[in-house]
Amino acid sequence: MLLTYVAVIAVVLGVVAAALAVLIIRNPVIYRRIYNRQALALQIARRRLEAFPRQEPSLGWREALRIAEVLQARALVLSADGQVLHDTDPSGPALRLPPLSGQDIQRGRLRAADGSPWAYSALQVRRGLWLVVAEPLPRPLEMLWRNRQDWLVPLIEAAVLALLLALVLAWWLSRWVARPLRRTAQAARALAEGHYQPVPEEGPQEARLLARTFNEMARRVEASQRSQREFVANVSHELKTPITSIQGFAQAIVDGTASDPESVRTAAQVIAEEAGRMHRLVLTLLDLARLDAGTADLRRETVALRPLLETLCLHFRPQAEAAGVHLALEAPDDLTVTGDSDRLAQVFTNLLDNALKHTPSGGKVRLQARRTSSGVEVSVSDTGEGIPPEAQQRIFERFYRGDKARSGGSAGLGLAIAREIVRAHGGDITVHSTPGKGSTFVVKLPH
Ligand code: ADP
Repeated sequence: MLLTYVAVIAVVLGVVAAALAVLIIRNPVIYRRIYNRQALALQIARRRLEAFPRQEPSLGWREALRIAEVLQARALVLSADGQVLHDTDPSGPALRLPPLSGQDIQRGRLRAADGSPWAYSALQVRRGLWLVVAEPLPRPLEMLWRNRQDWLVPLIEAAVLALLLALVLAWWLSRWVARPLRRTAQAARALAEGHYQPVPEEGPQEARLLARTFNEMARRVEASQRSQREFVANVSHELKTPITSIQGFAQAIVDGTASDPESVRTAAQVIAEEAGRMHRLVLTLLDLARLDAGTADLRRETVALRPLLETLCLHFRPQAEAAGVHLALEAPDDLTVTGDSDRLAQVFTNLLDNALKHTPSGGKVRLQARRTSSGVEVSVSDTGEGIPPEAQQRIFERFYRGDKARSGGSAGLGLAIAREIVRAHGGDITVHSTPGKGSTFVVKLPH
C-alpha cells in the first residue's frame, strides 16, 4: 500500500515538474537577464548621445556598432516610421518590429523572416531615431538549462519536501486504512476457528462499514451456531426422557420386576405411549427440516378461508366448552388465499390450541379473518394470561416453552412450525400481547 502511494506521488511530482518547465519556458521572467543587459546597453547609448552637443545621425550608427560588439548582438537604427536605417548584420534574417512609440524601453519577442525567435529591446535615443538591440533566442530546453539556477534548486527542494511530506502522509494513510482491514481479516480467521471477536469500527468510512457488516455477520454466525447447539441439546433432551422411561419399563419386564400380567400390561402401555411420543417428535422434526430446506412440497390452490376456519372451530368447540371459554369466528364468506389448505389448517390449529390452553374459564378466544391491501390477515386473539415482552421475542424459537411445568407433552415446536409454514407461503406471523390481558397472533398472507 505504501509503495502504491509512493508511486502515485512520484508520478504526480513528474507531472508537476513537466508543467513547471512549460510554465517557465513560457514565462517572460526567464528572458529577464537578456532584457536587462539590452536595456543597460541602450541607456548607456542614450546618455552618451545626449552628452554630444551636435546631433549627427552617424553618431547613432556608432553606438549601434558599439552595442553589437559589446553584447555580441545585432543592433539596428530605425527611423520614426520604422524604416531600418542601419543594421549591424545586414545579411541576417529580416526583423519586422512592431510599431514603436514612447520614451521608455520597448521589449518583446518576435519571429524573424526565417522563423527563428529573437528577443529585442528598443529605445528612442533622439527624436525620431530608435536604437534596437536584438538577440536570437536559444531553444527552449537550452534556455531552461541556462537559467537552471533560477528554478532547479527550488524545484529540488520542493520535491524533497513534498516527497517527505507525502511519505509521512502515505505512511499514516496506509496505517489508517490497513489496520482496520488487517483486524477484520484476523477476526475472520478467528471466526473460522470458532472464536467470535468483534472488530472495532475505525478507519475510513468504507473500513468502518466493512467492520460493521463483518460484526453483524459474525453475530449471526454465532447466533446460528448457538441455536444449532441448543437444537441438538434440546432434541437429545426431548428424546432422553421417553428413552429412559422405555428402558426402565422394558428392564422391569426383562428382569421380572413386573411379573404379574397387570404390571406387564402397564409397562407395555407406557412403552407404547413413550414410543408414540418419540415418533411424533421425530415426525415434527422431519417436517421442520423439510420446511427449512424448502423441500416440503406445498400445494398452491385457492383456499376458501371461511369454510376452513369453520371446520376448525367445529373441531375445537368441545375443548372450548370443556374449558369454559367462548369461541367466536368472524370471517367474510368470499375470502380466499392461495396455498396449501392442510398446512394452513395446521397453523390455525396450533394457534387455536395455544389460545385455548392459555385462556382461563370465562375467557374468550376470537378467530378473525379480513382482507387487507396486501392480502389476507387472520388473527387469533385470546383473553388469557398474555406473554411477557421478553418471551414474545422467543416464542417462535424451536423448543421454546414459556412455562415448562405446564406445557405437559408439548415440545415448544408448534409456533416454530407455524412460522415456517406461513413464511413458506410468502407471509409472516407476529404476536401482540399484554400480560394479564391476552394475546393476539396475526398471520399475514399475500394475495
Ligand atoms: P407448545 O407446543 O409448547 O405450546 P408453541 O411453540 O406452540 O409450543 O408455543 C411456545 C410458547 O409460547 C408456549 O410454551 C407458551 O409459553 C407461549 N404461548 C403460545 N401461545 C400463547 C398464548 N396464546 N398465550 C400465552 N402464551 C402463549
